[in-house]
Amino acid sequence: MSYDDQNIFAKILRGEIPSIKVYEDDRVLAFMDIMPQADGHTLVIPKASAVTLLDLDPAEAAYTIQIVQKIARAIEKAFDAKGIVLMQLSGAAAGQTVPHVHFHLIPSSIHQMRTHAAQMGDQVAITQHAEKIKAALAEID
Ligand code: 5GP
Repeated sequence: MSYDDQNIFAKILRGEIPSIKVYEDDRVLAFMDIMPQADGHTLVIPKASAVTLLDLDPAEAAYTIQIVQKIARAIEKAFDAKGIVLMQLSGAAAGQTVPHVHFHLIPSSIHQMRTHAAQMGDQVAITQHAEKIKAALAEID
């Protein structure tokens, strides 16, 4: 699938629009979802340009999943989460709304999550949640 470099996550990666980051290295960025489906809802994205999981280079997919696991551990610790939903929507037909591949980490039950990409979260609360995740990451490392 052809990649639109004007998508919102490409702009976040280039620093053209703000995001609340919890982790970044040369290949991956993790930041808070602006419309969280539960407190602590975090997005993990490879920096490589790819629309869906199927478009992503396998080596980048493998590396991204390692970081997904690392962030999941931090979320578990930060929120004392008993379960975390890992969600990845590939293609508009699946409900994907931002055409840059990403992994959702949602500390919630699948039965209790808020509606997908529906309601803006409180920015102050989201920032506090990010601080908790970053603190947990620092303790894990
Ligand atoms: P998708 O539907 O593509 O799987 O998920 C896209 C996610 O990106 C949604 O959960 C939505 O809330 C989130 N999102 C959309 N626009 C922005 C934005 O500008 N910043 C952040 N941080 N998240 C966004």
